[in-house]
Formats: sequence, C-alpha cells, structure tokens
Amino acid sequence: MGFTGTAYAVNVRGEDVLEAKGYTSVLDIPGEVDTAVIALPSRFVLGVAEECGKKGVKSIVCVSAGFREVGESGKEAEKKLLDIIQRYGICMIGPNCMGMLNTAEDVSINCTINPKPPRKGNLAMLTQSGALGASLLDYAEELGIGFSIMVSTGNQAGMNVCDFLPYLEKDENTKVVLMYLEEIQEPVRFRNIVKKMTKPVVVLKSGRTAAGASAASSHTGSMVGNDEIADAVLRQSGAIRVDSLEDAFLLASTFAKTGALRGKRVGIVSNTGGLGILMTDSLVKYGFELPDLPEAVKAALRPQLLPEAAVRNPIDLVAPAPPAHYHLALKAMLDCGEYDAVIVTCIPPATVNTGEVAEMLTPLIQTAEIPVLSCFFGVEAGGAGARVLQKYQLPEFQYPEKISDILHYMSPGKPAGFTGSTPVFDGAATRAVSRKLESMPQGEYLTMEDAEELLKAYGIPVAASGYVERPEDAENVSLTFPVVAKIDHPEIVHKSDVGGVRLNIQDKAQLAELVSQWQEKFPGLRGVFLQEQITGDLELIIGASSDPALGRAMIVGVGGTLVELIHDISYGHVPVSGSDASEMLSRLHCSKLLAGYRGQNPADVNQLIDTILRVNQLLVDNPQIQEVDLNPLCCQISDRKFVAVDFRIRL
Ligand code: ADP
Ligand code: MG
Repeated sequence: MGFTGTAYAVNVRGEDVLEAKGYTSVLDIPGEVDTAVIALPSRFVLGVAEECGKKGVKSIVCVSAGFREVGESGKEAEKKLLDIIQRYGICMIGPNCMGMLNTAEDVSINCTINPKPPRKGNLAMLTQSGALGASLLDYAEELGIGFSIMVSTGNQAGMNVCDFLPYLEKDENTKVVLMYLEEIQEPVRFRNIVKKMTKPVVVLKSGRTAAGASAASSHTGSMVGNDEIADAVLRQSGAIRVDSLEDAFLLASTFAKTGALRGKRVGIVSNTGGLGILMTDSLVKYGFELPDLPEAVKAALRPQLLPEAAVRNPIDLVAPAPPAHYHLALKAMLDCGEYDAVIVTCIPPATVNTGEVAEMLTPLIQTAEIPVLSCFFGVEAGGAGARVLQKYQLPEFQYPEKISDILHYMSPGKPAGFTGSTPVFDGAATRAVSRKLESMPQGEYLTMEDAEELLKAYGIPVAASGYVERPEDAENVSLTFPVVAKIDHPEIVHKSDVGGVRLNIQDKAQLAELVSQWQEKFPGLRGVFLQEQITGDLELIIGASSDPALGRAMIVGVGGTLVELIHDISYGHVPVSGSDASEMLSRLHCSKLLAGYRGQNPADVNQLIDTILRVNQLLVDNPQIQEVDLNPLCCQISDRKFVAVDFRIRL
C-alpha cells in the first residue's frame, strides 16, 4: 500500500523479499532501523530482540506467540523479553499480536499479518485480539468504514492501550477509537487518559462471566479482574462499554460517520405506521423523547405530502410516497431545530425504488449537523437503499430497533451531579493512624476500637461508643440510654447471627445483667461494645475490597442484614471523585428512597457522598487496607444524616 519508508527483510538465508533487501541479521543492515517486526517461532525471539537492542532499533512489533498465554514457561520467556527491551529502552507492541497499521499519507505502513490493504478512514482500533481486528477489517466494506490506525496489542507486555490513546486523541485522521480489551492494565492511568479524551472511545471488554475470564487468561494471559470493577473503571473514564461485537462495530462505525448526539429528542420519518410505532417503543424504553413537529412546520409540510400522510412525529409518509417526499420530510425535521437525531425508516413499497430514496436523502444526511440514522428494511428491495448509503459511507442499519440501541450508547452521560465541597481532613490525625497501621499484622481484622479510631481520624461518622468488660463497669458508662450492646469476641464476626447484638437497653442495671449473661453464654468473650442507639429508617453499606488486577474498589448500596438478599449495590473504582460517588448513588434502585419516598424526608445525600469520599481517602492513604465494611450506615430520622453503627476493617 505504498509504505513511504525503507523495508528490509531479515531471514536465515538473507533472501530478498519483494523489493525489500535481505539480510541474515538486523546487525548487518547498513544505517539506522526504526522499527523491527518480529514474526518468528518464539524460541528465536529473545536472541533477535537482543540483536535489535544492539542495533539501536527504537521499537519492536512482536507478532510471535508462545509467551505468557501458554503458561509458566511462556511467562518466564515474556519476562526475559521485557528485560531486554527495558535494558535497551525499546518500545514494544505484543508479543502474541497481529501487528499494527497506520494509513496516514506520510506513513502508510501495514505491518500486520493481514495481506489485504485496509480501507482508509477515521476509525482507530486497539485490540488485544488480533483476530477480532482482522475481522473488523473484513467487515469494513459492509460497514462502510475505513481505518486510520489499528494496533493489535496482544499480551501488552511492553506497551498497553494507555500508551496509544494520547496519540490517537491528537491524530488528525482519527475520529473515533474502538478497543477490544481482555484486561485493563494500569486502570488508574487508563481512567485519567480516557477521561481527558474528546473523541468517543468505544470499548468491548470481555470476561463478563467467570468462565469468560478463565478463557481470557489462556488467551492473552490477561488478569481479568472482577467485571463489576472493570465496568466501574470504564464508566468513570467516560468510555462507552458495549455488550457485543455487533454493537461495537455498529457504534464505532456510526460515530465514524456522524456528529455527536447532543440530547434525547428524536424525530422519525417513516412510510408505515407499524415501523413508526415499533421505533417509538424502542426509543421510549431508553428514555428518548419524541417531540411533535411545530405547528407551523406541519402546516407547511402537509400540502406537499400525500393526503393520507400523517404529519406529526413520527411522520408517516404512507407507502406510495415518492422519493421527493422523504426529502421534504427529513429536511423539515432537520431544519426545525427540535431534534437531536432523526431516524429514517422505510419498508420498501412495491412502487418505489429504495435506491432512489437513498440517493435523494444522501446530500441532506451528509450535511446534517445531527445524526441521521436509516433503515431500509428488507434484503432485496430494501437492500437497494442500504447499498447506496454504504457507498457514501453513511449510517445504515439492517433492523430498525438496532438504531435505538446505538443511539442509547451514543447518549451523552449525565452531567456531574455533585455540588458539595470536597472533604477536609485533619492531617495530623490521619498521619498518626496511618503510622499505627504500618506496624499492624497484614491479613487481620482490626479490633473495634482500632477500626473506630481510624474511621474517626478520617471524619467518617460513627455512633458514639463505650466499652465494658465486667458487669460492674456498667456503673461508669457515660452514654445516654437506651444503648446497644454487642459482643466483642475474637472468633465471632457476625454478631447478630449468634444473638450477640442487643438493642434497647434502658439503663445500667439492664446492661450489667446482660453482660453477666453474655459472659456465661460466650466463653472467651473479650468484652461488650456499647453504642448510642440510632433511630434510623434506612440502612446502607459502604464497602471496599481489593482486586488483584484492578486494585481497590468501593461499593455502596442497601445494607443491614439484608445486603445479600436485596443486592442493590453499585461499584466505584478508587480513587472515587464526588461526581463518581454521585453517579454510584444514582444507579441504585434505592436512590428513590434517598430522594424521599412517599412523604419521607429526603436523606442528606451530600453528607453520604462526603462519607464515601472520606472512605476513598482512607483507602488512598493506606494501601495496606484490603477490606472495609461499614454496614450498616443508618440514616437518622432526626437530621437525615448517615452514621455507621457497625464496621470491619481488614489489612
Ligand atoms: P452484625 O452485622 O455483626 O450482626 P451489627 O452491629 O451490624 O452486627 O448489628 C446488627 C443490626 O443491629 C444492624 O444491622 C442494625 O440494624 C442494628 N444496630 C446495630 N447497632 C445499632 C445502633 N447503634 N443503633 C441502632 N441500630 C443498631
Ligand atoms: Mg453489621
């Protein structure tokens, strides 16, 4: 495809390949070499990489497979390969990849194993699976798309997608980025980079199920990670995660061909009532709106269409409408400014050539400032229209409802909902508890007292507490009654399961009585933990865990003893920002409860977000914390603020 540089062929016999002059070693090539493509059986790769290093080669595309994806021996080899490229400061794509291509005029390089030159266009693809990249190249014609850059990153031993994204953001030829990922390496860096990007980033991430995850580890040797956390990483980065290969290709190609979708208002031009209604249903399901045409527009349009036509939204031109009517209707919808996207659907009537309809619409679609997505339904008669749109690289769909799916993906995310201030910390207090943590044994739960001290240092609200070891100590309790008593026993984690939580203790005498009962009932009891009794009506959980691949994540959701049963939880990847936290809450079913349900006073959501941010800081400052479980946080009836009444922290 007209590579603009000079290519050399290095092989055992030093043979020339096409115009490329042959050598037996890269060291024999006169002059400098920028990039080496290594496509050899894996046992030769290390030696050749070493030679590349000596030669001063700046980058390597390692197509060869047989590294960490094949198990222990491969892992070892990959480590050695990494050592070599790091020692020489080489950038490496792969190993176990399909190579890369760049169609830019001044580069024009195709070092993939795909012989067919790619169509030039504005879609950039980064893919961990070379085969999926190759199949997208294969679909390019039918999808009416072309490529600016494609990189198959394979095992991502040297460079991962994070290393390419800033370039793609700057690249003039790239309008949209599509990624197929099996793992998210450097998740925090990934989030920071993608968040800053102005171009749409579409991600198909595999390994949603445990079975899928184990397939991925043998595929590119990826550390897959909990999918809920991966989902949070992608969401917080602003990438658009799609569910299927079909959606990935269709969404990326739609972005490549149209402008951005700015809002929820959709107009429909159709030639049958049925299709218009189906489209309406599938759009409304996603929360799209179908505002009516303005009266003046209707009045102007009506006399130009057939008398049977329905002039509203959806516009039904009726079956016999000639191509010119489609043009009139689409133009009216585009010009009136009432819509953020227009959909054209056409079931081919016997009397109309859909190819002519599409030709008629093409100039309007090409110059439209909003997305115009079309479906000429049917293979034979509809196909004529579809092929015309493909020819002009305009969006076209085989099935009408798919348009709604794609528009849904394209919808801009909700604006950041958090307007509160970021929490302020007492540096001396947080440093003191962090230092204390460093000397504590890994893998253990903190005692209630230590956990409470840690939470308080970070300003995380916990119920006022006390502690008694013996019945006599009840006399000295300074908490206001009624109080709650809980067993403090080194072997018991779930206290209420064994009857180790007692609410409504009215006075000191009752407390003393209980302590002596518990001393008998629970041999080995360390003491009894006391708390003021919170009068609340909603119990939430804030938790944190550590994923070997993706790092720390937080959850928030319905808590209390029903947490497993109800499972209304949303995830956030650490660090969590105020708007991330607000978004996490908005995804909960119980968000309606937070907002005040059936006359209940709304919860203090800003205080809840503040608490999430404080837990986030606790995690950021203290990498040794593996697990945090504030459950429940009770929403107090009095001031609607949340306070933790039970907590567990594990190092
Ligand atoms: P565990 O989870 O170990 O069984 P908890 O301390 O969470 O024990 O107590 C169980 C339940 O008791 C809580 O989910 C909550 O409903 C209630 N509870 C515990 N402490 C308090 C408190 N201080 N005020 C009001 N209710 C409480
Ligand atoms: Mg609990």
